Amino acid sequence: MCDKEAEINNHLFLHCKTAVNLWHMFLCILGVSWVMPETSLDMLKHWEGMSRRRRSIEDGWKYIPACIWWTLWRERNERSHDGQASSIQKIKMKSLSLLYFWCKQDMVGR
Ligand SMILES: [Zn+2]
Repeated sequence: MCDKEAEINNHLFLHCKTAVNLWHMFLCILGVSWVMPETSLDMLKHWEGMSRRRRSIEDGWKYIPACIWWTLWRERNERSHDGQASSIQKIKMKSLSLLYFWCKQDMVGR
């Protein structure tokens, strides 16, 4: 993704510059200060714990890791297969739109 580090899961999904940007955006929106765990697995464990405590406040909270990771994965594939890189603003918008879409689908399904 960044061509600076080996493409391992923890780097791509948590510590790569684009990933850090996306996480930062969502955490700012939610007003949460957070120290990024080393691994994706630890990240999910912490997120789940926090998600349980905050469920009544933000229902879409549970989708955020999947939303960020799906956005990153698609961007990574577009860069490596099509040679097209989106700006960070565009990646952020894609991620927010995706979360909105998933939340909307979830509400329709109830
Ligand atoms: Zn990187």
